Formats: sequence, C-alpha cells, structure tokens
Amino acid sequence: MNIFTQSCGLVLMMLMMYFYLSKRRLKLFSESTYLIVFYTAFFCVLLDIMSVIAIMNIGKWNSTLIDAIAKLYLVSLTWVALFGLLYVVHSLYSKFDTLLIRTRYMLVLLLLILPDFGILIAPINYFYDPETGILYSYGPATIITYLIALTFIISTFVLTIVKASHLTSRKAYAIRAWMIIWIFAALIQYFNNKLLIVSFATVIGILILYLNFENPEFNLDHVTGMFNQNAYYLATTELYNHNMEFSVISIIFDIRFEGIIQEEGKDILMSQMAKYFFFLPGVEVFKITDQQVLLLFKNKENAANSVQILNDTFDSTLSKYGDIIYYTKFIYVPDSTVVTSGKELLNLIQYVRVNNIGLFRNRFYTVNNNDAFRMNSENSMEQELEDAMNSDRVVVYFQPIYSTVLGRFSSAEALVRIYDKEGNLIPPDSFIHLAENNGMILRLGEIVFEKVCEFIKYESPEQYGLDYIEVNLSIVQCIYKHLASNFIRIMKKYDINPRHINFEITESASLRGRDTLIKNMNTLINYGVKFSLDDFGTGQSNLNYIVDFPFSIIKFDKNMTNSYFDNKKAKYIMDTAMRMIKGLGLEIVSEGVESIEQFTALKDLDIGHIQGYYFSRPLLSDDFIKFIKENNA
Ligand code: C2E
Ligand code: MG
Ligand code: MG
Repeated sequence: MNIFTQSCGLVLMMLMMYFYLSKRRLKLFSESTYLIVFYTAFFCVLLDIMSVIAIMNIGKWNSTLIDAIAKLYLVSLTWVALFGLLYVVHSLYSKFDTLLIRTRYMLVLLLLILPDFGILIAPINYFYDPETGILYSYGPATIITYLIALTFIISTFVLTIVKASHLTSRKAYAIRAWMIIWIFAALIQYFNNKLLIVSFATVIGILILYLNFENPEFNLDHVTGMFNQNAYYLATTELYNHNMEFSVISIIFDIRFEGIIQEEGKDILMSQMAKYFFFLPGVEVFKITDQQVLLLFKNKENAANSVQILNDTFDSTLSKYGDIIYYTKFIYVPDSTVVTSGKELLNLIQYVRVNNIGLFRNRFYTVNNNDAFRMNSENSMEQELEDAMNSDRVVVYFQPIYSTVLGRFSSAEALVRIYDKEGNLIPPDSFIHLAENNGMILRLGEIVFEKVCEFIKYESPEQYGLDYIEVNLSIVQCIYKHLASNFIRIMKKYDINPRHINFEITESASLRGRDTLIKNMNTLINYGVKFSLDDFGTGQSNLNYIVDFPFSIIKFDKNMTNSYFDNKKAKYIMDTAMRMIKGLGLEIVSEGVESIEQFTALKDLDIGHIQGYYFSRPLLSDDFIKFIKENNA
C-alpha cells in the first residue's frame, strides 16, 4: 500500500496536535499563523491519503469524484506552501493594523490563490498498477501544482535570506531547512513517481518549526505553570506592535527571612500564588523573576477588578509561608501606553520599585504618566552624564570661603557641573542623586578629584593665600572599598600635598557600609587630608555623628544659618551645637551667606569661615584665580 508515509505523517501530526493543544498558550498572532499552517498541512496529508484511496478505486468510483479529491489534494499542497510563506511574512511584519493594509493584504492573498483555478481546470492523469500497488497522478494539473508550490517555496527561501537580520537566526535556519526538505522531496517524487513523500515532507517542516520555537513549552515556567519571561516579551511585543492597550499588575515578593527550604521554598511559594492568580478574570500570568510575577489584562476593567480582589485578599503587608516571611507589593500599571515596549514597561516597574514611589504608604502603587516621565528624563540625564564624562564636558567651579580669623579667603569649595552638547550648564542637583543611584558617581568623583588636583598643581592657589580646597564626596563613594587608595594614587600622580585637600561628606541615615567609611576616612586622614561634615542642620543632624567620626570642620547648612536669625528654638539648638563643636576643637563654616547683615551677625558669633553669594558665586578656575588675586592682595 502506498499510504505508509502519509499515515506516519498523520500520526505525527496528531501527536503534535495533542501536545500543542494540551499546553497553555499565549494565543499570539504568530501562533495563530502557525496553527493555520498546521491545520492546512493536516488536511493536506488527509487529502493525500484520500486521493490514494480514490485512485485505487478508478473504475469503481465516479471519475469526477476521484478528480475532485485528487485536485483538492494538489490545491492543499500549494496552500501549505503559501501559508509557509505567510508564516515568514507574519514573523517579519506583524503590523496589519490599518484597514488599508488589511484590505491590500487580502487582495494579495486572493491573487496568490488565483493560480489554483488552473489546477482545478487542467486535466489530470493517473497511474495505478494493482499488482505492485504503485500509483501516482501526473499531467498538466500536477505540473501546475509543482510550479505554484515551487514559486512559494523559493520566495520563502529568498525572504529568509533578504530579511535575515529581522528574523532570529534559528528561525531563519529552521524555515530554510523546511523549504530544502520540501524541494528535495518534490524532486525525488517528480523523478521517481512511485515515492509519494511530498506531504510527509510537509509534516517534517511543521515538526521542525514545532521543535524550534512553536512548542508552547518554551513559554512556560515548569515549576509554577506560569508563562515565563520569554513569553512576556513575545506577548508585549505583539501588543505594542498592534497598538493594543492593556493593563498589568506586577506583584513583587520581598522575601525577608528564609528558613532551611531556601530556593525550593520560593518555588513552592510562587506555585501556591500562581494557582490563586489564575482565577482572576481575563488574566495571563507571567513569572518575570524569582520574586516578581506579572499579571497581564487585555481588558482594563478586568485589571481594575483584580486590583480590588487582590487588595481584599492580601490584607496584611507581611505574610508568612512555611519558613518564608515576605512582603507583597503591588505595582499597578492601568495604562500600557505610558511606555512603548515590554522592556520599558519592566524598567518602569523596576524604577518605581527601586525608588519606592508611594510604596511605603500603601502596598498598592498605581503607576502614572508622571512616573514614566520621570524615568525617561532620568534616563536621558543618565545619558547626558555618560556623554559628558566621555567627552570631557565635566567642569569644576570653585566658590571662595572667607576666614573671619585670617581676614582673607583661605579656602574654596569645588562644585561640579556638566555641559550638555549644546553648551548649556547642568547643575549638580540634576545628576548627583542619579549618579549615586546608578553607581556612576564613582567615576564622576574621580574625574572631579583629578580636575581639582590638576588645578592645585598648575595654578598653585596656595601662593594667593589659599590653604585647601574642599571636595564633595558622596556617601556612595565613601563606602567604596578602594576610595582611599584610588584618591591617594591621584594625589601622588599630581604630586599634591594632602594638606591642600579637604573632603566634605554629608551625614547619612543609613549605617550600611559604616565600617568601610571609617576605614577610608582613617586611611586618608593618616595620609594627611582632613574631613568636613557637610550640610549640618539638615536631615538627621545627629550630634553623635560629630563625635563618632573624625571630622575637622562642620559646615552649617544655609537653612540652619537662616533659621538662626528668625527662630528662637533653632537659635538655642545652634548655640548649643556651636558650643559643643568648639569644645571639641572643630572649626565651623557657615554656608549660604547672602547678605552683609548675615555676614556681620555670623562674624560676631565667632564663626570661623563664611561661604556664600555674599562674597561670590562658584566660579570657573580662571575667574576664581582672578577673584582671589584681587581680594587677597
Ligand atoms: P553643597 O556641598 O552643600 O554645596 C553648596 C551649594 O550651595 C552649592 O550648590 C552652592 O553653589 C550653593 N551656594 C553657595 N552659596 C550660596 C548662597 O549664598 N545661597 C544659595 N542659595 N546657595 C549657595 P551647587 O553647586 O548647585 O551644588 C549642590 C550640591 O551638589 C552640593 O551641595 C553637593 O551636595 C553636590 N555636589 C556639588 N559638587 C559635587 C561633587 O563634586 N561631588 C559630589 N558628590 N557632590 C557634589
Ligand atoms: Mg559641600
Ligand atoms: Mg553644603
């Protein structure tokens, strides 16, 4: 019997179908194209078997019926080839969102199936030898079929080469392999009519696609049964491509204590949760990381309802599962259009999470346009800073500090700025905090310090009566293990006497890295530099800080200076602080002094150093030198 290969193909297809349909699928556009190819191929194999049976019954069955079956099989073959081509087209162009494009697309499709009428009209001949069981069809209808199919196959092949950069290489190879197998099968069948292997080759092609990327398993997380991160990207790419709005709720598990079960415990926790999420209306559940689940709703109302349900269910912040104690935080993005891709959406959620916008008050945070706007401007500022560091657009300004004891300007504070590409000056408040968050401050800090050392080496400001330059250090720099050694290396490189350097640190509430901070301070102090406590009078203003850390100078913040004059309580506190600071033998700098009244009052209070716009704004090094030369003469 000549239907052995076809039957094998049929069984294979049924197996694939079983595995395919029994798994949860994303129901993507590309998946539906695959399903169309799949079903067409299935009918193709079925029709192949039917036409073999029909040809075996020549003489017994009505000849029109036999022709119809045989020709339908031929038509189905061209359709598989056509849908193979469309499968590639859909992978390349998944945007068919306007009516015009869709109409054109349909017209092209109609044109492409027009030649099939040739198969239906053309004569067809059969060969059947009941002795050997050999049978096949031949004649004009068969030749037309070969021509049509070959055109599609070659087009598909060429498309995968021309547009290779737009396809994943695995996808391109798999599709090419399918096409080559097909051409070989067709050639073999053409020259050896006895072997009916074309439809089996079709099945092999479908199998190749299945094994390479259409297997729904690729999108599933096996432990929890949720979709995985890969699936998330596929789904969101398609949604954004088709301009379809959706909502997401991201659930973040902040695991605080893990007992013995560790990793496994997290999986169990996730699996438990997963079961729960699956019951929410119209949801698709994705496991993004070990500690993050994302619920996607194509219908926004379902999302809003689910927020309500989740809020009612997770009534306490702190939950316990076995040995695991965890916090659940919910970040709700009602409108997917605040960003433009799945990747950005995850970034936004991460951004909100890291910056903890609103999460302390309520476990549910609803993300809005503003958050996205802030993230984007931070991202562009980050780029701006990166560019500035790479193309030497970091500049250091100097603000003179007046010594009331010496009656001259005896030091200065180095203050960083960057220029953007258009030459506009960007103040440090716009990028320091950001640089601290993403770690860029380490590189920026070294650049600033090099520039200060360069300035000291080439301008020798000590010749004009300047004792030292104050350089701001961020707490992030201070808890960096290699800070001291790197900065000592830089001082040595420029041959700087450490007496000329003073580092300013702002007190930090966090005790993280405290040991490293003290170690760095001690190493640098032993080398010969001094430290100031910056912005005293803001934030915590913990007096212990002054006692516990080896500071030489305390800098009073301008707000503290100002409130001294118009607030009795502040006056009392500052008087006490001043007495203590002086008692400890430390010096005081008052920042932000803008008027002569302030200046005289502070001078009368015996404040040793005064800094502010009253004397000068921060200046570029040349202007600064000029200022010092004139005023210290
Ligand atoms: P800061 O260290 O407290 O510096 C003092 C700030 O007050 C400077 O702002 C200065 O220009 C400003 N200022 C000085 N006199 C007056 C005044 O009379 N009135 C008013 N209203 N303001 C005055 P700037 O340069 O914008 O720097 C802001 C902050 O950025 C600094 O505060 C410091 O925390 C940080 N920063 C600046 N340069 C660096 C740096 O190189 N590294 C690090 N880590 N942080 C820096
Ligand atoms: Mg400062
Ligand atoms: Mg300050």
